[in-house]
Amino acid sequence: MGVKRTKQHKRFANTYIQTFGFRYPFQVLLCGDTIQAALKHRSDLRDDLYSIFQGTVNLLTTGCVVRELVSQGDEAEGALISAKRFERRRCPHKTAVSGVACIREIIGESNPHHYAVAMENRKGRDKLRLIPGVPLLHFNRSMLVIEPMGQSTLDKIKEIELNKTAVSTKEIQALEALVPEVKEERERAQIQVHKKRKRAKGPNPLSCKKKKTKQAPENSTAASQDASQKKKRPRKSKAQRRAQVETASS
Ligand SMILES: [Zn+2]
Repeated sequence: MGVKRTKQHKRFANTYIQTFGFRYPFQVLLCGDTIQAALKHRSDLRDDLYSIFQGTVNLLTTGCVVRELVSQGDEAEGALISAKRFERRRCPHKTAVSGVACIREIIGESNPHHYAVAMENRKGRDKLRLIPGVPLLHFNRSMLVIEPMGQSTLDKIKEIELNKTAVSTKEIQALEALVPEVKEERERAQIQVHKKRKRAKGPNPLSCKKKKTKQAPENSTAASQDASQKKKRPRKSKAQRRAQVETASS
């Protein structure tokens, strides 16, 4: 496998992980026709999928996929044997539907369980491609390939990226409009690195002390003046009172 393809696969896997919430091991739903194609092309699905997703994979069938292979008789005998080795995902169908229909229903409108799908049926893939965030795989001649991302997936990626940036800037603007201190704080934080060095040299403590020494005498003199006035008054009033008392008593 070429370096270019490996890089592309890595990018695909990262996009599905970061944007659509996929996690290792990647869960891959296998349609019966892909299991048959793998046998025909002597491909090891697990190895191929490991290379494509650049990490561990879990291969899954469904009850309907297995029953469809059973119904195909001798023609699908080998595929049925391989299918039985894979984990079987429960599906809601008591009466079997086709593997394609069953997988489409499991994927639903939004692929909530983050499945990738390997399916040879072209019409089945066309419909799955309309759902964003479904990695689709099929055999191209003798090689299992992952399809380029469909338009619905690309649109969803754009939408998510736009929302991320739009929300964050909107949130900041809204917050700053409500609380002006937030903006001041942000601006202060931006220049804090430069200010920190100046602060370390310490002009601020000196200026603070000067202010305090200037303010303190002013306050104290004002206070002492008040105090002296207040003190003088009682002295005067005491003398006056004595005089008043003496005059009143006499
Ligand atoms: Zn089913």
